[in-house]
Amino acid sequence: MAIISCPSCNQQISDKSICCSHCDIDIANMTSENLASKQRVNKIKRNQSIQVQTFLALLMFVGGFTLWYWEEQPSESWFSILGQGMIAVGFIWYIVNRARLIISNK
Ligand SMILES: [Zn+2]
Repeated sequence: MAIISCPSCNQQISDKSICCSHCDIDIANMTSENLASKQRVNKIKRNQSIQVQTFLALLMFVGGFTLWYWEEQPSESWFSILGQGMIAVGFIWYIVNRARLIISNK
């Protein structure tokens, strides 16, 4: 028995399995046509989730700035510390999601 990766979801499965235990695709009766459509659907779903996360990251970034500038004098309050943390996390998260989107669309 060998381990192969599912042609649809890329999870590790046995080459003896008839259908994938992760995405339930029928490997034995799979045509290249319905494989292609399944992969297309998976890609769209993945891109949608990345886009939602990109949006949330931007929201966090903007929210961080709002918190940071909330107080007229920059201070050591938890408000501005939280704001700076949100700016950093939002920024990194945004970059990571942009990279994932580029890789996914290759
Ligand atoms: Zn699968």
